[in-house]
Amino acid sequence: MKPLKILSVASELYPLIKTGGLADVAGALPLALQAHDVDMRTLLPGYPAVLAALKGAQVVHHVRNLCGGKANLLSAEHAGLKLYVLDAPHLYNRPGNPYLQPDGMDWHDNALRFAALARMGADIGKGLLNEFSPHIVHCHDWQAALVPVYLHYDGGKRPKTIVTVHNLAFQGRFRPEILHDIGLPAEANRIEAIEYFGDISYLKGGLQFADWITTVSPTYAREIREPEAGMGLDGLLRTKQAHLSGILNGIDTNVWNPATDPALPAPFSAKKLSLRAKSKAALQKRLGLKVDKHAQIFGVISRLSGQKGLDLLLEALPVLQDEGAQLALLGAGDAVLEREFRAAQAAHPGAISCVIGYDEELAHLIQAGCDALLVPSRFEPCGLTQLCALRYGAIPVVSRVGGLNDTIIEANEMALNAGVATGIQFSPVTTPQLIEAIRRATALYRDAPRWKQMQQNAMRADVSWDGPARAYVQLYRQILS
Ligand code: ADP
Repeated sequence: MKPLKILSVASELYPLIKTGGLADVAGALPLALQAHDVDMRTLLPGYPAVLAALKGAQVVHHVRNLCGGKANLLSAEHAGLKLYVLDAPHLYNRPGNPYLQPDGMDWHDNALRFAALARMGADIGKGLLNEFSPHIVHCHDWQAALVPVYLHYDGGKRPKTIVTVHNLAFQGRFRPEILHDIGLPAEANRIEAIEYFGDISYLKGGLQFADWITTVSPTYAREIREPEAGMGLDGLLRTKQAHLSGILNGIDTNVWNPATDPALPAPFSAKKLSLRAKSKAALQKRLGLKVDKHAQIFGVISRLSGQKGLDLLLEALPVLQDEGAQLALLGAGDAVLEREFRAAQAAHPGAISCVIGYDEELAHLIQAGCDALLVPSRFEPCGLTQLCALRYGAIPVVSRVGGLNDTIIEANEMALNAGVATGIQFSPVTTPQLIEAIRRATALYRDAPRWKQMQQNAMRADVSWDGPARAYVQLYRQILS
């Protein structure tokens, strides 16, 4: 079989720029595909953090006017990834979060910034570069979703396209008046195209014109076809059902490896599980929790947003007190949640510790040192933190939605007796159910042999990219055949 050439278009990419799981996926998938003879290169915006990290970048194309200014397309390699970086200072030369101004509001010109990215993706797709002419353009989320729309209105020869939905909540919704500025015809403002409740939606356009739609778990692929999780796009997704599938994410098992992780005081593995206690003690020390090897630590590593259900956790905190458990939370986002978690820490020093911020290294130590990782999301397309938790022997306590449903084997009696359980699930996503799940976790924790068995099951679960990479290759070949 001939090698596949795929252009991935993404607005963030680990390890260069990351706000969430999208960056992890965009950074890991190309590496996982190398074993399958797939040449995946990634187009991403030239934010300052990206440009600063590049070494030996070459200009491979110049555009005189791309959405209001000059742009260079750079080619470079970084950490084994082949990149095309869109260096357009008028759009991307802004430090910090890729989407938000320092005051937390969206950049006023996000419509232009990500139309430019997609325009470039569509042009590379059509053969702009002699060195790389992709069979498929694989677009991630709304920031890249205009690629199939441009290709549709450009007409002529075009590559196949896939749009992957990492989170349907983010839709790239703008006023239709910008159509001219982003180089789309007025006729695109129709319900069969990108019109969306009086606005336009980049994501909707991508879903409408892509050859295939994927999302990041089989359960989420089902959920988004229903009104409850469909965020207004369920009707469209039902019509696209025959071209919609869910492929789970993996994690980078080199970055997340308790046997080699430099962030831990001592390595450990499923066989040497007793060494995990050193990480637990280090975590308690670092976070100012009472150093007590018997106290069960519940960990949280999360964006603080309504999606993640952490308001329910605030309501459930008294149960941790009742059970003599501790909380180690790392997160940032919603100002009200940040304030309330800080207040919870102040009210319960030594038992509740909440670090507000973003800290990769601490995330590793929490996974290694906490006993259970809480993920009470209202919806969760895939979720990565529970996969990291499995790998580190932290038992996930999760709501039964989306990818959390697909990646955790619930500790019901049957699974416990068969010795296959890896975590605890609860449903519906309410405070009483979360409390009940925490109580189940504390009861299981006291049953040390069962708990250890679950940890070992968890650590042996395959959370790598091997399976997902195979599924993507199969899909790519299917689309092209
Ligand atoms: P989402 O993409 O919805 O935010 P995921 O669970 O899919 O959620 O991915 C979140 C990723 O970001 C994980 O790799 C997680 O470890 C990381 N992460 C989230 N919040 C923080 C934080 N405050 N500090 C460090 N890492 C974080």
